[in-house]
Formats: sequence, C-alpha cells, structure tokens
Amino acid sequence: MRTRLLPALTTFASVLTVLTVLTLPAPGTPGVLVAQQASAGPVAVGAAIPSPASVIGFEPGTDRKLPQWTQIVTYFHALEKASPRIQVHTLGKTTLGRPFLAAFIGDSATIANLSHYHDLQRLLADPRLTTDGQAAQLQADGKLVVLVTSSIHSTEVGGILTPLVLARKLVSGEDEATRAIRRNTIVILVPSLNPDGVDIVGDWYRSSMGTSWEGTGPPTLYHYYTGHDNNRDWYAFTQVETQMVVDSLYNQWHPQIVNDIHQQGSSGTRIFIPPYMDPIEPNIDPILIAGVAQMGKAMTWRMTADGFTGIANNTSYDAWTPARAFQHYHGAIRILTETASAALASPITVAFDSLRPGYNVDPKKTGVDFLTTWPGGRWTIGDIVRYQTAASMALLTQAATDRSEWLRSYSQVEHNATMGNRAPGRTDWPATIVIPAQPARDTAINAALRILQRGQVDIRRASSAFSADGRQYPAGSYVIYTAQPYAAFAKTLLEAQHYPNLREYPGGPPKRPYDVTAHTLPLLYGFDVSFVHDSVTVASTALAPVRAIPWVAAGLTNNKARRIAMFQNWSPAMDEGWTRWVFDQYHIPYTMITAKDIRAGNLKARFDAIILPDQNARQIASGPRGAYPDSLKGGLGGANGDGAKQLAAFVNAGGTLVAFNQASEYAIDALALPVKNVLAGLKPTDFYAPGSLFRVDFNRSNKLAAGMTSGMTSPVSAVWFEGSPAFEVTDTARATVVARYPAQGDPLLSGWLLGAEHVAGKAALVDVKQGKGRVVLFGFRPQYRAQSMSTYPLIWNALR
Ligand SMILES: [Zn+2]
Repeated sequence: MRTRLLPALTTFASVLTVLTVLTLPAPGTPGVLVAQQASAGPVAVGAAIPSPASVIGFEPGTDRKLPQWTQIVTYFHALEKASPRIQVHTLGKTTLGRPFLAAFIGDSATIANLSHYHDLQRLLADPRLTTDGQAAQLQADGKLVVLVTSSIHSTEVGGILTPLVLARKLVSGEDEATRAIRRNTIVILVPSLNPDGVDIVGDWYRSSMGTSWEGTGPPTLYHYYTGHDNNRDWYAFTQVETQMVVDSLYNQWHPQIVNDIHQQGSSGTRIFIPPYMDPIEPNIDPILIAGVAQMGKAMTWRMTADGFTGIANNTSYDAWTPARAFQHYHGAIRILTETASAALASPITVAFDSLRPGYNVDPKKTGVDFLTTWPGGRWTIGDIVRYQTAASMALLTQAATDRSEWLRSYSQVEHNATMGNRAPGRTDWPATIVIPAQPARDTAINAALRILQRGQVDIRRASSAFSADGRQYPAGSYVIYTAQPYAAFAKTLLEAQHYPNLREYPGGPPKRPYDVTAHTLPLLYGFDVSFVHDSVTVASTALAPVRAIPWVAAGLTNNKARRIAMFQNWSPAMDEGWTRWVFDQYHIPYTMITAKDIRAGNLKARFDAIILPDQNARQIASGPRGAYPDSLKGGLGGANGDGAKQLAAFVNAGGTLVAFNQASEYAIDALALPVKNVLAGLKPTDFYAPGSLFRVDFNRSNKLAAGMTSGMTSPVSAVWFEGSPAFEVTDTARATVVARYPAQGDPLLSGWLLGAEHVAGKAALVDVKQGKGRVVLFGFRPQYRAQSMSTYPLIWNALR
C-alpha cells in the first residue's frame, strides 16, 4: 500500500505505451462521436515523462520541502511537452499577478478533440437544447468531466504537492485503473486555486527553517484580500481567482464531479470524506446528495481495502452554504476531502490518546462513520500526500467505472431543474421570482444580477407593467422563471434561510454549523424581491449580460485629503482583507498601520480616522500568539497598554476611531467608553447566532444613518450578525444609539437565532463622543465578506 501510488513503474510504463501505439484505432475525427471506442491514446513521442523531482528538486512528500509556484508551472509545462495526454491552459493572472493554471488530462484522442467534448458538455448541461433521444446518445458518447481543485487554503500544503503526483500518474500510469480514467473521463486539474498563497506560505516557511516558529502560519493573509475566506466566495464571485474558475471552467465545462482537496487539524481523524453531516441546504437536488454519498462511500471502501486507516464520514462538514458549493447548484457533486495536517511540511507526532472527537465520530472508537482507527504516531507531509493522492485516485477510479450512470444522473438533475415546481419533491417552489424595478437600489440590483448571470441564471426584463399574486410590478422589473437549469442557484440566494434548530443532543447546546447560516442577497445588498406561486406571463425580453455600475462613495472615492488608516495585525484578520478589497473597489485611499505604528503614537498628526477591522479583543490586544519573530510580536495591549493609550490620545485630539463587530469590544475596554456589551458571558444555550441577518431600525436623525431605509419599509434594513456584541449605553449624553434591534418580535430575517429576547431593543450601532473626537462602534460586520453592501453607507458616513 505504501508504494502503490509512487511512480515506480516508469520503465514498465514506457514499454506498455509503445505497445499501445500499435493497437490503437485512429484518433476520432472532430465532430464525430467515436472517442468512446478509443482505448488509451497514442503515446508521448520523444521526451520521457518527467518526474516532479526532476523539476522541483525533491520527491513530493519529502519532509520540510515545498516548491515555488514557478516550479509547479514549469512542471506542468514539462508534462505537456512530453505527453499528448495533457493540455495546460493559463486562465489568467491571480490577484498578485501569477499565472493561474488548469491542466486537461485524458486519452490523447480526447485531448486532441477537446472542443468536441466542450460541445457535448454544453448540450448535456441544458436539456432544453436536446430531445430525450439525443440526451441518451450524449450520455452514451460523452466523457465524464471531473474537476480536481487543490490548495485553495495555502497552509494546507499537501494540496500544493499532491497535484504534481496526480498529474504524473494520470499522464503516465499504464495500470488498468489509470487507463480507464483516461478512457472515460476528462480530468481538469487545477493545481492551486490560490497560486499567490503557494509562495506566501512557501516563502514564510523557508525563511522559518530551524527557528522556533518553523511550521507556523504566515503573519499575513495567504490570499491577499480574503485569506482562508477565499473558499467562501463561490456565489459572491468577488475575487479574480473565483471568477476565472467559474467563467473558464464551470460555465464552459460543466463538470459532473468536483474533487476539492483540503486539510483539517492534526488531532482528529486522518481524513474526512463525505457524506456530509446535516444540514443539507434544501434547494440542492437530492440526486446530488445521494451521488455525494455514493461517491464518498466508494472512496472509503477503496481506501479501506488499500489499508488506509482513520477515515471519517458524516462529521464536521455540512452542505448548507452555497458559498462553498457552487457545484451543488450546477448539477455536480462536490467531494470535499480534508486530510489531517502536520506543521506545514514539518513532521509532528500525534499520540493516540491525544486524538479528539468531532460530531458523530471519535477517532479512538470505530463506528459506522469511522471504520478503522489510526494508531497514532508520526504524521508527515508524505502521509498527507499519500492520503490525498489515494483519495483522488479512488474518486477517479469510481467515476471511470460508472461513467454513463454519472452522466445519466447529471442529465436527470438538469431535467428536473427545467421542470421547476413540477419536479419531484418541489411542489412548493415558486414558479416565478420577481425583482421589482427600484431605481434607488440600482447599484445593489446591478450587483445581484451580475451574480445571478455569472451563475448562468436566465433573467428576463419586463417591457411593461404587470401584476401577479395581487401585486403590481413596474416595467423594467426582472423576472426569473424557476423552470430552468440553474434556478436553484437563484432561489437559494434570493430567499430567506430557515436554518434548522439542531442541538448536540436533545435539550443540549446548539450544534455549531460549519460556516454561517444565511446568504440572502436581497437582505445583504438591500433590494426587494417577491416569489410568485404561478408562472406569470409577462411581456419581456432576455436580459443581456449586465455591466457593472462603478461604485462611488461621495467625498471618499479618490480623496487623498481624507487620511484613513486601517489596522493590520500580525495575527491576520480576514475582515481586514475584505475591508481593503471593498475600499479598493471604491478607490478610497487608505494606509495600513501595524501595532508598532500605533504604539509609536503621534497618530492625529498623520490620520483623521483609524479603522479596527473585526477581530476578537484578545487578538487585538496581544498580536500573534506562540513562537514568532520579535519584530512581529505584541498587539495594542489591553486597557492600559501602549496602543490603547495612543488610540485614546488620537480620539481625544479629534480623531475618529471606527471599530467593526468584535473589535468594538476592544475599543470599549481600551478607551473606557460608556457602552456595554449585554451579550458578554451568555452561554450558547442562552444566545446563539452564528452568522445571520437581523432587522434593525435606524435613528434617522443621526447623520451616520443618512441614506438608510427604516426597518419596516422595503427593502428591509438588515445587518450581518456573527459572534457580535449588542450594546447598552450607560451615558446618553456621550453615546448615541444609531441603530437598534426591534424591542418586540423576532429580529431574525435569515439564518439562525436562539435567545432573541437578549437583543430585543439593544443597540447595534453607537456613536460615542470622546474628547474632541468620536468612536463609532459597529455591533455587526458592515462589509461582511464584501457582501453586506446595504450597510456600506454606514462606513462611509462614519469616515466622512
Ligand atoms: Zn481548507
């Protein structure tokens, strides 16, 4: 088992490939569906298939070794040069300018005819374009397209190496399983979804060799704007990496299966493979969830037979948010694997007794979701690469075995989608979704329409006024009929979420979701929407691709005279990155300042406003914890710390301090503000809201609330509540409440909330006068993952 996936068969492989040439039929003619009959493609002529070690200088999985991105690019181009079974495409440039790669792998006859298979996939994806008979023929003739994506999270460093091993094996392996994969599938391998991070983490790691901080994460975000949140962008599509993958791979190649390679912590199971645990987002076609379970169990079966231990199913990872699962709304199954981590590429030892349980699974006990225990001991980058490669090969082998069945089930998902509310289990679906024309909300609607179009939703625009379900809609309203292939994507993003009230055990604490619980664009962006039961006939035209309306914040966009600083902690905060992204889109100048800059003082001479992005108070006070270079150590200090004193001096001298979400708790404490967080100390059984949208009412006489709608009018005013404080003001002469949760009724608009009474009537946004300056305390995330656009104006008002 240990050597099974290592490339030990090179010499045999070259002998076998020569034999293959002699027995092969001619490659298929473009436009003719013959490739299915072809077995292994013609072989590489001339160059031998290069090993990863020959390019990167070491065997992938060697302790304490990571490659640079340029070496990975070089390796893929070397493979392409050596073999007609692989074609490497550069999709564009990353955020920081690196080339972004996708490698297409299959039989050489397939690779030579990619445009033909591209056409087949387009027809398979949209049942409106074919008859039943044609669809059956497509299922018989088509290849299964499997997208393998790796290393979106750059500290999960096995994912940087595994694609090299996989690519080499898929291109050169001559065992029957690998030949079947090439014969039946087109593998699209994205060696990294975040190439910038390969170097951000790799450079940091190499510089840390032999120090006490070897194996720690870098002190900056490993995606320039989003850090670890880069895989929470699969519906907002804010980042260029997400856009390239959706535009050039998903929307062009309509993969049926996606294998996304990740790593989890060190102290649990050795690998997670689906099925996912509950909850499953209810708009996902049940065929896909059954497909996920079938594939996950087949992978578990194959790996168990090959001697791998510590494999967990049905734990930790749910299928609730579309932010991580574009596939589930576009006909594909998403297979997430999460292999246990080492200390980046440095080995660790994990004692069996130290293994910790997760939901449904205890790594010290076997059960239906955990069939064999791992005995504990040394855990290395080599183990990670071995598990990830085996899991990927198990997936691909299973895919190749069931090619036509996967294609048939894919077609059925898309067929069901085109039946709308007449599809099995969907009788309560709306037939039509209408976004009424709302001129005052044009920018928000524009952004939402662009998301829906990128998700391939067909939208129509009403050419005259109409009525439906007793409501009048003006000409120019947008109409989405739900009988179309990707209607579930639109419905999921436009409706409110009702997250199930899951408990760890009956009467016990809430069962923590894997991610947040709400994703309702009309509430996040601030526009109105309605769901119409019947299919209404509307005079309308298909909406052409909409262009972005440029974002402008009056008085701030391109205004260098307004001196804004943003705190960058060496214990990096994703919210800081998202804040920078939003500011960059609005072209608002800012300066990044570190804890050292703040501790050095003289802040008022340099800045008019300082932003503390969302981060917990302890991290802001202490900076990075554990072993780090002295130059990076230290935060702002607690209430009497040097940083806190300098911030107080800045505000007293007339500066504006703006704190987002949990950073408000730091500001209250550090500046001794007359405000308290009423939620401090409450247990999750009393109060819980892990990422939800709440209704607020604005005090519209306060200029911070200028331009905001009031709570009860349309669109409803909503704020993003996630681990947030809720405030009570203890000195009304100094502190003014600008937004408040309703005193009566449930503030929850979308997501999950336990203990609504604890926030009833409490403040969500407070403006505090202090000396000559002020502190603006946000009790929510006003630019949550660059999505809560309806609350951006509050930030601009605070900074003007
Ligand atoms: Zn990950």
